[in-house]
Amino acid sequence: MTRALPDELLKLPHRTEVPFAKLTTLGVGGSCRWLFEPTTELEAQAFVRACARESLPYRVLGGGSNLVILGDIEAPVLRLRFPPDLRRMGLKLSAPASFGHIRMAQGAAKEGLSGMEYASGIPGTTGGALRMNAGAYGTELVDILDTYRFLTPEGELVEKRPEPGEFKYRWSFLTGGHVALGFTVHLVEGDRGRIEAQVAANMEKRGSSQPLSQRNAGCIFKNPAGQSAGRLIDQCGLKGFRVGDAEVSPEHANFLVNHGHATAAEFAELMDLVRAKVLESHGIDLEPEVEIWRAG
Ligand SMILES: Cc1cc2nc3c(=O)[nH]c(=O)nc-3n(C[C@H](O)[C@H](O)[C@H](O)COP(=O)(O)OP(=O)(O)OC[C@H]3O[C@@H](n4cnc5c(N)ncnc54)[C@H](O)[C@@H]3O)c2cc1C
Repeated sequence: MTRALPDELLKLPHRTEVPFAKLTTLGVGGSCRWLFEPTTELEAQAFVRACARESLPYRVLGGGSNLVILGDIEAPVLRLRFPPDLRRMGLKLSAPASFGHIRMAQGAAKEGLSGMEYASGIPGTTGGALRMNAGAYGTELVDILDTYRFLTPEGELVEKRPEPGEFKYRWSFLTGGHVALGFTVHLVEGDRGRIEAQVAANMEKRGSSQPLSQRNAGCIFKNPAGQSAGRLIDQCGLKGFRVGDAEVSPEHANFLVNHGHATAAEFAELMDLVRAKVLESHGIDLEPEVEIWRAG
């Protein structure tokens, strides 16, 4: 049964029954029963504090580019909608957590600041990137992170420098009700033309190796140590395998794509099938790289 939300939460900006198809890059999932969209840090803090007081679990959504949603989500979902304020202070650049990660990389390039080129093909928000410690081409966000701001699950605002153990490969401790609010990166002076060319080249490289014309959530499974998940899936002959509108991309086997009307059930079936086939053929149990939200 749906739990009633306290009045102090309902006073905050929110929408109801928003389809996850509109909130995620994959476009699969049910309905988001409560979508809270604060436009200031104070509103975000009021949301977290109200949930903490009521012991009400909630989820945090960024650009939805690393998520597979399998059903309706009844828990309140927080999606930051802060003003898009990209700020330069010398060699440092800061952005709120709702700012686009690619847009920040492009902004750095425009300023002639080098260090964020790796991010030029990674969709989603900077908040999602911080939570995931997103990275590519041997660089990850923590490598250039100067300071970051977040709310604890109790709603306390913290600003700090990164410390050992807080960020690992595609992981940070910012889970379980922590909310990233923004961060500052330290970059180096470079040649604007060269940096912009690198940003464009990274985008182009992805366009030729990933099925970017179809809805997807990036790589679905993590690469097992010393192996490529895509190659293992390909060796099982699964490229082009389809369950309804969900397909193992013929371009890149670790991308599962939505041809337009894939349902959560079709996606779940395809993921299970790929995993089972790789386990059967190679004895390797693939671990999802995407985060899966099951109904509830
Ligand atoms: C085509 C494509 C290519 C990709 N390539 C790469 C790549 O090269 N490297 C890479 O690392 N990733 C890649 N990804 C995955 C994805 O883009 C990154 O993980 C991205 O950083 C996720 O950001 P998001 O805002 O979309 O987060 P979401 O997908 O919305 O959320 C991901 C996780 O972050 C949490 N989260 C989101 N915002 C916040 C916040 N403000 N505070 C706390 N938690 C939050 C969510 O709860 C969830 O746990 C790719 C995805 C696609 C679709």
